[in-house]
Amino acid sequence: MKCRKCNQNAVINMREHKLALCKEHFLTWIPEQTQRSIETYQMFTVEDRILVAVSGGKDSLALWEILNQLGYAADGLYIDLGIESDGGYSSRSRQFAQAFANQRGLALQTVDVRQREGASIQKAAQIARRGSEKTCSVCGLTKRHIMNQTAREGAYDVIVTGHNLDDEAAVLFGNTLNWLSGYLLRQEPVLPATETGFARKAKPLCRLYEREIAAYAFLKEIEYIHDECPYAKGANSIFYKETLNSMETARPGIKLAFYLSFLKAKREGMFASRTNAAREFHICPTCGQPTLNMDECAYCRLWNQVRTVIEEPPRKP
Ligand code: AMP
Ligand code: ZN
Ligand code: ZN
Repeated sequence: MKCRKCNQNAVINMREHKLALCKEHFLTWIPEQTQRSIETYQMFTVEDRILVAVSGGKDSLALWEILNQLGYAADGLYIDLGIESDGGYSSRSRQFAQAFANQRGLALQTVDVRQREGASIQKAAQIARRGSEKTCSVCGLTKRHIMNQTAREGAYDVIVTGHNLDDEAAVLFGNTLNWLSGYLLRQEPVLPATETGFARKAKPLCRLYEREIAAYAFLKEIEYIHDECPYAKGANSIFYKETLNSMETARPGIKLAFYLSFLKAKREGMFASRTNAAREFHICPTCGQPTLNMDECAYCRLWNQVRTVIEEPPRKP
């Protein structure tokens, strides 16, 4: 297989794009594609201050590297969730994020959930007993809250995450199977900041296949945590990814088409009636962040409940 651009040996064949590239051309193709998404969806400009949420995994570290290469000013945020199973999953991912930042002289801010709230994600999930995917829902809620708060306190213009096409297509697949129109409406490559206090959020890698980013991280010699979060095992999102992957094998490009045609259908008015249904946000009296609840936001409720249980004096026999 030869590179389409220079006829040297190709390092990757992307059947989804009918495109094979050599190392040199692939390593310029990925940042070019990212820049295209940033511009197409008007995610941010070089004037903006960017906060990259880095998990220590390949996607967010590759994203941080690409943004720097493209000349964007981006600081990192690592949220230590205190997940200590699987040989210290959180502390190992933290080390990868920190080493990446140190090697490149980049600024990385770390928020430690255990220090901040007094308990790990596992502990909070045990106490709150939330549904079957409880750990993931507690974790998602906590990450979103901390990302938003850090972006606002640090006066960042936008918070970016490493979600790739496989992530987005899997979320879309799940939301479509259940016709969750509210979630479908809000699934966008970029969400604007709101007056109520949400920071702008963007996903610059949303059109890149996970395999393409993995190849990029490998060729760039980015060191990252290869393990999945121990709680992700058996999650619906993994089942959806596998289903989409088997479709992709038979029909290369189907994942990208699924995602892009969804975005197009929305631009053409799908869910338009929902767009007009205003959601009324209030300000949480405890943390000052926006919430649909009339009183405290879901984050404050959760962690207050956790603290109450932890601090309860032991019952007398
Ligand atoms: P995930 O939900 O684990 O697939 O992660 C999606 C994106 O969220 C990653 O690409 C990161 O940008 C961000 N993210 C996930 N975990 C963390 C974390 N512990 N700290 C900061 N950002 C994270
Ligand atoms: Zn080439
Ligand atoms: Zn709150």
